[in-house]
Amino acid sequence: MKRIAWDQYFMAQSHLLAFRSTCTRLAVGATIVRDKRIIAGGYNGSISGGVHCADEGCYVIDGHCVRTIHAEMNALLQCAKFGVKTEGAEIYVTHFPCLHCCKAIIQAGIKTVYYANSYKNHPYALELFSQANVKVEEVMLDESLIEINSKEKSEFVSHLLSMLEEKEVSREELVSLQEQASSLFSIRK
Ligand SMILES: [Zn+2]
Ligand SMILES: [Zn+2]
Repeated sequence: MKRIAWDQYFMAQSHLLAFRSTCTRLAVGATIVRDKRIIAGGYNGSISGGVHCADEGCYVIDGHCVRTIHAEMNALLQCAKFGVKTEGAEIYVTHFPCLHCCKAIIQAGIKTVYYANSYKNHPYALELFSQANVKVEEVMLDESLIEINSKEKSEFVSHLLSMLEEKEVSREELVSLQEQASSLFSIRK
């Protein structure tokens, strides 16, 4: 039995949270961890009870959607709301945080930022992190843990198979390929 590494586990959690995002511009997830325990999580979305970008379109000012609270902020605010200490914690984010979130992360006493995707990594943010002795590390998510675009992938494969049906592929080969495809994709259906 192969156990999943901690950093992959927490990063996968952030990617799962990102699926809850309501903003159509970018889906971000953040997980705050202390002593190998998840203490909070967030994704970018509207204020509770507010309208969602996914339903009403984004509210864009100066190229930014102002309707949503960022994932990192939501995770930090969850700690504030429920009185959970963030000092010395770590945060796992799907995307490198924006400058505002970077400042909030530092001020909340978070000591390590793990990110999966670079996203306009602001040089000033990196400077602030280094001044505050906050470690910043890239963690690539093992994509086999969370199948991203799984529906698109299975649709693509079934399209390829239907194309093959029209070509000179033997019945046996085709059936075998179809079986292989269904065993690969049925797991997550
Ligand atoms: Zn939006
Ligand atoms: Zn942000």
